[in-house]
Amino acid sequence: MYKNILVPIDMGHEEISMRMIAKAKSLLDEGGKITLLHVMDEVPSYARTYMTPEAIEENLRQVRGELEALAKINGGNIATEVKSGRPSPVILDEAAEIGADLIIMASHRPDLTNFLLGSTAQRVVRHAKCSVLIDR
Ligand code: ADP
Repeated sequence: MYKNILVPIDMGHEEISMRMIAKAKSLLDEGGKITLLHVMDEVPSYARTYMTPEAIEENLRQVRGELEALAKINGGNIATEVKSGRPSPVILDEAAEIGADLIIMASHRPDLTNFLLGSTAQRVVRHAKCSVLIDR
């Protein structure tokens, strides 16, 4: 059905991530590709004064390790990518860059200001050039 699926991963929500990856696998054509992407917040300039470059690097290494572990327990053969910035624009850029034909994401924090979808999901749905599946 789909050849190139992007699954943006918000760390710390393992159950949701596992569900999205299972869904990606079930919708993937034989020989297709899944990419897991985590977007890290950029370290604000004021924080750089008390976070050493080594601490920032160590944090990045840890996040990469966690994402790779997630790919591995899901059978490997899943690409991983860690980028920094604000989640929604980075997700949209990555989808365009890899030529994704589907983005699968969840929407877990609806509140009164974004009644049906969380803000990240909402922005991606609105601006993506490919299909987006919101897992609820
Ligand atoms: P929020 O309410 O914080 O905007 P959402 O409910 O919109 O969160 O998040 C929905 C989905 O957005 C997550 O399931 C995940 O796919 C994606 N997402 C959110 N934050 C990140 C992040 N930092 N990196 C990658 N994907 C993310």
